[in-house]
Amino acid sequence: MRQTKIICTIGPKTASFESLLKLANLGMNVARLNMSHGDLLWHKKIIDWIKTLNRKERFSIAILLDTKGPEIRTGDIKKPKEIKSGQRFIFTTEKKPTYEEDMVEVNYDGFVDDVAVGDVILVDGGLLSFLVKEKKEKRIITECLDGGLLTSRRHLNIKGKSSSLPTITKKDWEDINFGIENGVDFIALSFVKDSKSIVNLKNYLKQKQVNIQVIAKIESAQSLSCLEEIIDVADGVVVARGDLGAELPIEQVPLLQEKIINSCLLKRKPVIVATHLLESMIENPTPTRAEVTDIFLALKQKADALMLSGETAVGNYPFKSVSVMDEVIKKLEKEIFLNKERKFFPETFDAKIEIAKASSFLAMNLNVSAIVVFTRRGYMASLVSSFRPSVSIFAFTNMSSVKRKLNLFWGVTAFRIDFSKDPEKTIKKAIKILIERKYLKENDKIIIVSDILIEKEYVETIQIRKI
Ligand code: PGA
Ligand code: MN
Repeated sequence: MRQTKIICTIGPKTASFESLLKLANLGMNVARLNMSHGDLLWHKKIIDWIKTLNRKERFSIAILLDTKGPEIRTGDIKKPKEIKSGQRFIFTTEKKPTYEEDMVEVNYDGFVDDVAVGDVILVDGGLLSFLVKEKKEKRIITECLDGGLLTSRRHLNIKGKSSSLPTITKKDWEDINFGIENGVDFIALSFVKDSKSIVNLKNYLKQKQVNIQVIAKIESAQSLSCLEEIIDVADGVVVARGDLGAELPIEQVPLLQEKIINSCLLKRKPVIVATHLLESMIENPTPTRAEVTDIFLALKQKADALMLSGETAVGNYPFKSVSVMDEVIKKLEKEIFLNKERKFFPETFDAKIEIAKASSFLAMNLNVSAIVVFTRRGYMASLVSSFRPSVSIFAFTNMSSVKRKLNLFWGVTAFRIDFSKDPEKTIKKAIKILIERKYLKENDKIIIVSDILIEKEYVETIQIRKI
């Protein structure tokens, strides 16, 4: 069993039913649709395949729609440009049929205003970089600092700055509506700057009466001044290390990763570590030792999920990347679990949260085999997960959508069953399934977190039972 979940970005290298099935069999828990690429028709096909997969092959792969956000990109170019360090190069927001050899189009008109003389423009997070020398109307004249090959539609950052674009652009709203129509499970907002955009989207989804969870991607320099508010209102968080390391000095990335994960643990919000986890596997069949060590760190910090981007979308080894990640996580988790050092969780005066916390501590101190949670909305299971108990969490819900969503959460294996009026019958049914599927065996000691009916009222309980 693996506690830490794997998110795979779907791209040209994995866009077929067979490939998605293969990813699911290898351990994908959540499929990510990156709306920076592909059109709606393409994404619709992926969604339909995943739905078929879930229905026919009994997976419960959750779908995460990741908005493009206020992302700035260079335009299409016919053939890659070789740019040399020291060379003059122009970024322009002019719309022209063809551009000069030393010039590339930028897709955002406000870019010229956002940039100041002396700023550094990064291409793809720093693969190429340019020092801004002068601005002339719609043109930004630069000197290339680090040269290289410039291809079509490359991602731009201004080092140390956030763009002035709204967090949710017109395209994003179209993509969000597409996500609503197609019943995705999570929407991730890119370049979140404050809590307002999250609240705004959550209200919109509520008004549309859909239960989609909103994930905040922390990657904008501006988000750091209100990090805690963002985590408070979001349903989950992504440590988006790629852009974070472009908008901020790179040495801030490990510090922020630790800070964000710790804050999410305390606030009981799922947290995803993203970008470059197995970057070298885009080209090579084995990861670097540094990448494996990076995974180890994220596991020790107890992130809920690790995300693969280019590795599964455009890499040469999409399937091997997932199996390497699955293996590495499983083997390292064993080592980490031997160390039972616990975090201090402050009291909350909330019965549900305290029950979840207590179940996690009991699991450790009573040497039980598992925590079994009954959860209608998934909330109770997410709470138990947030305390990172030392045993597996088996969650039983009566809704498939909840079962899918729980696939993101650390340590949770979810099942859908019909709930009986008599909670005891439901418990018996669940235990039978766990024994049949060999997750548990007779005489195992388990902890059950559920509500029981006392005089027509449901009461939260913890039971310690031998099955
Ligand atoms: P992206 O976000 O892959 O959508 O750019 C993740 C990151 O910036 O790390
Ligand atoms: Mn990003």
